[in-house]
Amino acid sequence: MRLPLIAGNWKMHTTVTEAVALVKSMQERLDEINGVEKVVCPPFISLTAVAELVKDSSIELGAQNMHSEDKGAYTGEVSPLMLSGLCQFVILGHSERREHFGESDVMINKKVQAALKAGLKPILCVGERLEENEAGMTIEVISRQIQADLQGITSAGGLVIAYEPVWAIGTGRAASGEQANDTIGIIRKLIAEIYSDEVAQELRILYGGSVSSANIAEFISQPEIDGALVGGASLRAEEFLSIVEQTARIKGSR
Ligand code: PEP
Repeated sequence: MRLPLIAGNWKMHTTVTEAVALVKSMQERLDEINGVEKVVCPPFISLTAVAELVKDSSIELGAQNMHSEDKGAYTGEVSPLMLSGLCQFVILGHSERREHFGESDVMINKKVQAALKAGLKPILCVGERLEENEAGMTIEVISRQIQADLQGITSAGGLVIAYEPVWAIGTGRAASGEQANDTIGIIRKLIAEIYSDEVAQELRILYGGSVSSANIAEFISQPEIDGALVGGASLRAEEFLSIVEQTARIKGSR
């Protein structure tokens, strides 16, 4: 059985004060929900304050990005070494990083390797753009990304994959549960080919793209979908709580 995981990607939102307030507003109720791994990913600047707040709770912490080197002359960057011990997860290869910051699969591959080496669990994001989807290239694009992003990585322990169709991110136009389940099933087969059936059965694969309290049930009731990477809705306490609660209820009742 794969433990469901709900991760909130706060993107470039919240000041430190706001981040602390948002976690405080959810902490007690999140702690009461069992059977789901709950992760929040605030901006770098809030990680220390939020880490202090959640240290005795069931809430885990993720960063939204990192450099692949442990240290060096990389002004403005944050390293795996700096994150290890502070958070458990790191989002890598998000489509906004690929699009706005020119992150290539070669760079993402280095980051995934560095994260695993540092004991961080990468949430590796893959997904096709609208024009690729419309051209029927979804599987081709995703396979290419996964092969490249996991190149040379022999042990995938701790890895999480998030299937995030780019056209669904922040648009309010989510994929259907069935579409997402089919694509995630194909990702799992690919992981079995790269590693083994056992690894593929253990690996958690999330759906991301306009997930909300209104549609989470459609995704989480699918057998291949192990949770969600939630952007906009994770900034609203009641929304995020409802997403986690529904996940616990649906996956727990299986
Ligand atoms: C994301 O940022 O990974 C995401 C899925 O955003 P949203 O839920 O807002 O579409």
